[in-house]
Amino acid sequence: MPPLDTAIATDGTPAVDTATAAAPGRPPVDGEPCVLIKLGEVVLKGKNRELFEKRLADNIRAAIRPIARVEVIRRHGVMVVRTKDATVATVDALAERITDVMGIVWAHRAWRVGKDVESVERAALELMAGRQGTFAVRSRRRDKRFPLTSTELDRRVGAAIADRYGLPVRLKGPDHTLSIEIDRDEAFVFSGGLPGQGGLPVGMSGRGLVLMSGGIDSPVAAYRMMRRGLRVDYLHFSGMPFTGPESIYKAYALVRELDRFQGGSRLFVVPFGKAQQQIKSSGADRLAVIAQRRLMLRTGELLARRLHGGTLITGDALGQVSSQTLANITALDDAVELPILRPLIGMDKSEIMEQARRIRTLSISELPDEDCCTLLAPRRAETRAKIDDLRQIEKRLDVGELAEQLAGSVQEHRPVYGDAGAA
Ligand code: ATP
Ligand code: MG
Repeated sequence: MPPLDTAIATDGTPAVDTATAAAPGRPPVDGEPCVLIKLGEVVLKGKNRELFEKRLADNIRAAIRPIARVEVIRRHGVMVVRTKDATVATVDALAERITDVMGIVWAHRAWRVGKDVESVERAALELMAGRQGTFAVRSRRRDKRFPLTSTELDRRVGAAIADRYGLPVRLKGPDHTLSIEIDRDEAFVFSGGLPGQGGLPVGMSGRGLVLMSGGIDSPVAAYRMMRRGLRVDYLHFSGMPFTGPESIYKAYALVRELDRFQGGSRLFVVPFGKAQQQIKSSGADRLAVIAQRRLMLRTGELLARRLHGGTLITGDALGQVSSQTLANITALDDAVELPILRPLIGMDKSEIMEQARRIRTLSISELPDEDCCTLLAPRRAETRAKIDDLRQIEKRLDVGELAEQLAGSVQEHRPVYGDAGAA
């Protein structure tokens, strides 16, 4: 459970602490600013925990390499990110970037000070300087040998703050919570924090291939699977040569944004227009949409196996569009052997959009483009696709060969988070 102190407003905005920078003219704390990280489910993983923590530490280091070289120290249930000659501004930037790394529940910018009451008190006074309103101190000891109990420490530091600044203590719902954590080698003092994504470190659950349209749903599906520890690659089908490249630019921009959750993302693009035309002229008619989705999945399966991926991921939500009825989903599953993960299956569109906004993909998804699927949308799409009928169509198309060709025609891109360059 995250500590109560890390007040987060009910609208979900984190209680970012802006009052902690050492003000000029005041004696600095004899410690260093660092990022104190609270882990989520990672701590529940028993014997695997060592692996999880190692993976998480690697992911943290990779994510913040462009900002600073750091040392990541693993402790019981927390991690500490230290960097040489850290300024408060650098540490703030680190904390913010760290909240994108999957597997983290909170990132606090904390003062790392000596493990004695005086140092803790000095840091606490520094942190509370200039604040108005009520406050509470909450201590916890990971090292029980510390001479004061948590309650004694709360009282001692609380009294010092009340004395110095005349602020009233309020234990229930204070305006400011000052947290103290006594660890093995040092103490941490902080107030406020940034909520992380939760979940598991990317890479712990294997690798998957996301079928990525330019729409709203598939980026959210990718996010949700990364959060469960999957490392993902992306596959986009464009209507080229019969549409422009706009959908590819969108897919690229989406993957670049999502790359902040894992790093090293790969986007594979297949020009799909000619295959769509073949489906159309095969007389698939009302089954054309499902037939083409099956072809996408088959192509995806071939590519996924090449990439050592164990699953395909789509943005399907039950009943959202006519291709997403239970019968049609069954017909899609029939096309491939790999499991298809559909993390949005039970979500409402409004919930999906809310998530898309939060992960900053919504505005990209809403840009206009020519979805390749509109090329062959029949007037009335089939809602109860029969697998036998689909197999007939696919026989005529020699779909196995077609999927091989498509999988062989992929172009690979490497969108990197923070890169300004276009596709
Ligand atoms: P999205 O918002 O993700 O486009 P959607 O609600 O428009 O989803 P569909 O168009 O039926 O629904 O697509 C369902 C899923 O099929 C998508 O979430 C995606 O995983 C996959 N898909 C559809 N079109 C493409 C495409 N052009 N390239 C890659 N995958 C696609
Ligand atoms: Mg779509």
